[in-house]
Amino acid sequence: MEETRVAVVTGSNKGIGLAIVKDLCSQFEGCVYLTARDEEKGLETVAALEEEGLSVRFHQLDIDDEESIAAFKTHLEETYGGLDVLVNNAAIAYKGSATEPFGEQAENTIRVNFFGTLAVCRSLFPLLRPHARVVTLSSFVGFLPRVNGDEPQAFSLREKLSSEELTEDELSDLMNQFVETAKDGTWTEAGWQSSAYSVSKVGVTALTRVQQRAFDEDPREDLIVNCCNPGAVVTDMSSQRGVFTAEQGAECPVYLALLPPDVEEPKGAFVWHDKQVVDWVKGPLPGPY
Ligand code: NDP
Repeated sequence: MEETRVAVVTGSNKGIGLAIVKDLCSQFEGCVYLTARDEEKGLETVAALEEEGLSVRFHQLDIDDEESIAAFKTHLEETYGGLDVLVNNAAIAYKGSATEPFGEQAENTIRVNFFGTLAVCRSLFPLLRPHARVVTLSSFVGFLPRVNGDEPQAFSLREKLSSEELTEDELSDLMNQFVETAKDGTWTEAGWQSSAYSVSKVGVTALTRVQQRAFDEDPREDLIVNCCNPGAVVTDMSSQRGVFTAEQGAECPVYLALLPPDVEEPKGAFVWHDKQVVDWVKGPLPGPY
């Protein structure tokens, strides 16, 4: 068994995830895993990083594939016996010009961004060591008031999503209900907004709060999970539009991944790219993105 601390970044062959890996290589004391669903793309990126003199490890990881997640978990468990940093970065977003029906976009987006992230967490959380840090990439569109379909249903959804008693299973049911209503054309009447990506980011933000409550009761010391809005970042996802570089987009997630032992906050928080903790339920937001 290798005695080293371990950090993992999902979907890190490009974009913000790759920038997070690079920062962790220089700032994290331990080994850093670049992971990618496409092994070839991942290995190409690793080779490029090695040319730059960075030392990084690679493993295939598709967050939308239970077998891939299980194989990675086994690898971590057998090689290191634990995990210290997990950055849930991988996600998809349909372009505004996409022609797929809304129900199909909703199903795929929620399956990858919400249920894929949840599956990775459920699999890898048992490996977390005391003082582990988990960071999930949310978005400015992951702000609770984005749930703004017809009232009073939207109000009821916001209450459920922000409830201090919400469980992972109840949250999963809400995400599934969104997909069902997206398929039968009634999502607005049900209270949901007209962006599957936004619903998925509201979902992972609500999940962060649920997960921190469980960490607070966990016998392992000082486990912390936060989510963040990296800002509007120039990447393939944003069609190369935005105000920040990938390196700037990585700053807040890396800050959260490296929170020192026993900090009081942020914990279970929605954190803006400038590191401000934002009230997810009421705001105000520090800026539009
Ligand atoms: P990119 O599209 O540039 O990169 C996304 C990464 O996720 C790629 O490596 C992609 O792999 C990977 N990925 C997608 N699906 C899976 C999967 N099933 N399993 C594993 N990896 C997968 O996006 P960004 O870098 O812009 O986004 C990173 C994160 O930041 C996302 O969570 C995004 O939602 C969030 N974010 C981005 C903003 C922006 O302005 N860019 C704004 C707010 C939030 P592949 O190369 O194979 O497609």
